[in-house]
Amino acid sequence: MYDVAIIGGGPAGLSAGIYAARANLKTVIVERGLYGGQMQNTLDIENYPGFENIEGPQLSEHMYNQALKVGVEWKYGDVTSVELEGQPKLLKFGDEVLQAKSVIIASGATPRPLGVPGEAEFTGRGLSYCATCDGALYKGADVAVVGGGDSAIKEALLLTRYASTVTVIHRRDALRATGILQNRAFANSKIRFKWDSVVERVEGDTRVNGVLIRNVKDNSNEVLAVKGVFIYVGVDPVTDFLAGSKVLDDEGYIPTGFDMATSIPGVFAAGDVRATSIRQIISAASEGATAALHAYDFVESLSN
Ligand code: NAP
Repeated sequence: MYDVAIIGGGPAGLSAGIYAARANLKTVIVERGLYGGQMQNTLDIENYPGFENIEGPQLSEHMYNQALKVGVEWKYGDVTSVELEGQPKLLKFGDEVLQAKSVIIASGATPRPLGVPGEAEFTGRGLSYCATCDGALYKGADVAVVGGGDSAIKEALLLTRYASTVTVIHRRDALRATGILQNRAFANSKIRFKWDSVVERVEGDTRVNGVLIRNVKDNSNEVLAVKGVFIYVGVDPVTDFLAGSKVLDDEGYIPTGFDMATSIPGVFAAGDVRATSIRQIISAASEGATAALHAYDFVESLSN
């Protein structure tokens, strides 16, 4: 029986683990992939205090090692269902059923598909959701990035290290990305913009050779010849194992109070899976810590 079971080993889960274990709670993190979550797909992190610039995999490793060092148990497993009401709470993954007094859901989010013809067909053949992983394959090529948020602009900047041109296709005429990223993108001669434009179709034969885009203002169409397309149109929460649960809102995120508590006693949520407008590594880490400290109070209350 664990005091705290944490689902997900990204910055929220790892931070929760560090705080819970240091509070002498018997703590386990269950993760289906590599520690660090989305940080693993981020080349440069420049906004995590204490590190002017650190590679995502390196920051992931620091957090992971720290968690293990303070006594967090790490289990690989894809949680497929949970029983969260009552005591103990149950997590099912593989053949294992894990019991815990409290649960912190820190399962994060994954890139949202664009939902256009050609997307599924060309995924891995010129279409990617990870410039950090695949960017180097496009040396000297013309590529496109779809989206106008932090991820799109950050990854467009990264792609300029390899590609000869990077065209950002954005559905509006203003970026959502944070100011410093916008400034860098506007100052980069390799980056062009197709404003007020949406992708209608990804085209190619065996691999991508273009995207059909439509200008939403005048409805004109054009084919942009590119060898690579990188999609960054937001993220979807990873909550499939909670299907039908009362902790989810209509969009599949988990609303919480200031203490990261969900509507079920002893169940907390932290990080990108939470219903919030801020999705940063620092906020995920902070929410993880908050969730762990309130999980501590909850576990204590069970024995009083
Ligand atoms: P995001 O902030 O939600 O931005 C998604 C972008 O895609 C927006 O520009 C949006 O357009 C566009 N979009 C959404 N649906 C679309 C569609 N169907 N067709 C075309 N365009 C579409 O997502 P994100 O950039 O992945 O970031 C997710 C979260 O992580 C955010 O909170 C972000 O701040 C954070 N993040 C932070 C950093 C950092 O370095 N600080 C890096 C990466 C991510 P509109 O603008 O018109 O809505």
